[in-house]
Amino acid sequence: VMPSMAVLDVAQTYHHQRRAVKAVRQATFDVFPGENFAIVGESGCGKSTLTRILAWLEIPEKGDIELFGQSLSFLPKKQLVKLRQQFQLLLQDPFNSLPPRMTIGRMIAEPLLIHQRLGKAQLRERVLAAMAEVGLDPALHDHLALNLNGAQRQRIAIARALILSPKLIILDETLSSLDPGEQQKLLELFDRLQKKHGLTYIFISHDLAMVRRSCDRIAVMYLGEMVEVTDNQTLFSNPGHPYTRALLSAVSTLEDNPFAASEYLLEGEPPSPIDVPQGCAFRTRCPRAMEICASVSPTLDRREGAAGYTACHLNRRPPAVESPLTRGLA
Ligand code: SF4
Ligand code: MG
Repeated sequence: VMPSMAVLDVAQTYHHQRRAVKAVRQATFDVFPGENFAIVGESGCGKSTLTRILAWLEIPEKGDIELFGQSLSFLPKKQLVKLRQQFQLLLQDPFNSLPPRMTIGRMIAEPLLIHQRLGKAQLRERVLAAMAEVGLDPALHDHLALNLNGAQRQRIAIARALILSPKLIILDETLSSLDPGEQQKLLELFDRLQKKHGLTYIFISHDLAMVRRSCDRIAVMYLGEMVEVTDNQTLFSNPGHPYTRALLSAVSTLEDNPFAASEYLLEGEPPSPIDVPQGCAFRTRCPRAMEICASVSPTLDRREGAAGYTACHLNRRPPAVESPLTRGLA
């Protein structure tokens, strides 16, 4: 199967007051059609930078992204604009910055106004259809968004994202500020929309309980790189990377969590992306660190005896089996 999105060896460094901030050091993974893929990690791990790169709002210094087999770096601008309609980004707090005097109908119509030429009646019809799909009362079409709550604003954002019939939606902490009941309703909505339109979702989140409920595969990021990429079942019952275990042991809201109150307690802050430790970047907080971890940086390899990929010397395969940084982290 051709991936919906292939992230190929992406890296991004910011230069700030003569210092290099290595926001993303290594990201490689595939996201397949119809799946819910999650990227998780603590704040400061590079998720935000990676999100902007996935949405192609920022061009990485290294690596590339392929969307439905097309390289975004090499696509002529005209085709890029066209392809852009097929992937949409949903933010945590939509419309923080939109003009308060815009009607809801107009907000939802905006992407259509930019990308397609439609008559007034046709436009209205498309907007009303999108509103119906996300469960917004059509009577709200001519209202201002002023007095709506977070969940309603989120539905407007979803309608707006759907209006161009995208194939892939990136959800950047989209559900984070909503209460569990609203979260659940929106997850059900995402699920319905996925089945109906064959959508692929990438959830960027720090909420492991939500990810467990809704995502098929998960990539764990630490200090700008992927340290584990695996399926839901493996991640939550038998994770391979000490950092994943530490993340799980820090969540009190997970049921049947084998790592609750385990030895894998995450102590201290992550090191600065300006000053990434030599060898394994996690070694300054890792309870299992060994001598080799200080000098040799582990690569993301297929895990011995379990599903998925980890970047840890504990899970190392004998060398020369395969090249780790190629495609197909399925
Ligand atoms: Fe810990 Fe070493 Fe594995 Fe890094 S490579 S996670 S320091 S055991
Ligand atoms: Mg962030």
